[in-house]
Amino acid sequence: MRPNLLNANLIAAAIAALFAADAAPAAEAPASPPLIALHCAHLIDTEAGKLLGESTIVIDGKRIKEVRSGHASVAGAQDIELKDVTCLPGLIDSHTHLTMQFSPSTYSDNFRLNIADYAIRSTVYARRTLMAGFTTVRNVADYANESIALRNAINAGTVSGPRIYTAGKAIGSTGGHADFSDGYRADLAGNPNAKDGIINSPEDAWKAVRQHYKDGADLIKIMPSGGVLDESSSADNAQMTIPEIQAIVAAAHDYGFTVAAHAHGAEAIRRAVIGGVDSIEHGTFMNDEDMKLMKDHGTWYVPTITAGKFVEEKAKQGGWYPPQVAAKAEKVGPIIQATAGKAYKAGVKIAFGTDAAVFPHGDNAREFVYMVQAGMPPMFTIQAATTHAAQLLKHEKDIGSIAAGKFADVIAVPGNPLDDISLMQKVEFVMKEGVVYKQEGNPVAAAAQAERTESRRDIDYGF
Ligand SMILES: [Zn+2]
Repeated sequence: MRPNLLNANLIAAAIAALFAADAAPAAEAPASPPLIALHCAHLIDTEAGKLLGESTIVIDGKRIKEVRSGHASVAGAQDIELKDVTCLPGLIDSHTHLTMQFSPSTYSDNFRLNIADYAIRSTVYARRTLMAGFTTVRNVADYANESIALRNAINAGTVSGPRIYTAGKAIGSTGGHADFSDGYRADLAGNPNAKDGIINSPEDAWKAVRQHYKDGADLIKIMPSGGVLDESSSADNAQMTIPEIQAIVAAAHDYGFTVAAHAHGAEAIRRAVIGGVDSIEHGTFMNDEDMKLMKDHGTWYVPTITAGKFVEEKAKQGGWYPPQVAAKAEKVGPIIQATAGKAYKAGVKIAFGTDAAVFPHGDNAREFVYMVQAGMPPMFTIQAATTHAAQLLKHEKDIGSIAAGKFADVIAVPGNPLDDISLMQKVEFVMKEGVVYKQEGNPVAAAAQAERTESRRDIDYGF
């Protein structure tokens, strides 16, 4: 209820610290921020898959100290009352592109905008994503590693946004889905190589992964099949060999990276799973053999139904995509939802992911509605966006549930989302690492957020 008070306390602490430095040695150390007692009318335990009644989440700094049942009073804590809501762990979108957002001008923007333009816009997309309740994203490809800069800025508190685990640039082959020069005239197309994420041999694969390590990526994204929104002719042909994929995976494991594979076509999915990737993204034309292989290998599936629905709609509407892209969108778009339903029934592991950028950032929660339409139970879709996505990221110790020791990432939606999954689109409250970003449906003022950051304190020390 008192986000401004919280921030005011932090500002006061910073000012106290400033004067303490001047007046040393007698001054007291600044008081640590108070505990927060977050009182939720209901709480979803994503680990047990259960809806709990009234609960109190006790937060100490960035992490959850304990979860108590009922409206517990906590000595010395600042109370935040969340009435008539259901609290959930902060959501995780396993497939975003936070530095991109498609529009009817995208294909010509590529010739006008610089990487700094995309980076600045991404700060707005990041904030919208956080306000939609997504406190963590797996960012699976950008233009030129600008998502690494965005991640660093969010971690430093310079801008507000979700916690980002990013793949930096995607890795693919010449003329494939990762090759940004597809469709350009020869003198503009250049000859992108392993340093740019374009590989044509296992040796190139090692170079590309090691370059990502040097560049500061958190994971690897590969493009073993054609894709919809690039200006080449096929959305689903196989574009990487099994030895190339195996080399990527071997190199990635040296550095503790997971590997996400964009793949629409059945053969590309087969190669990626055999090659050892951690997840298949989109998976449009996944067949029974692919699903069996994925279960045998424990490969995750990230469906991105929202992107399929959106590109199908815009291709029909016209004015958004070049003709060959529109043709691919009409072929792929209508299939993904049914594939997701089949994969769920077959028992393939599913993590929530949307491909936000293809559609506007902040609309990520539409995916819940499409997943339920595809035949998945509401609780399963919520677990897909919390515990499952955390496992895919290999960060389940820190995120994915509301439990002692985990990051204090908590959101709230009105009513009961298990009865009406569309309520996931009406997030009223957002806390990330113990800081309130949205309350009673309204963003906490950006200016106040900026006051709590390290960068702001640097400026204060400068006068
Ligand atoms: Zn994508």
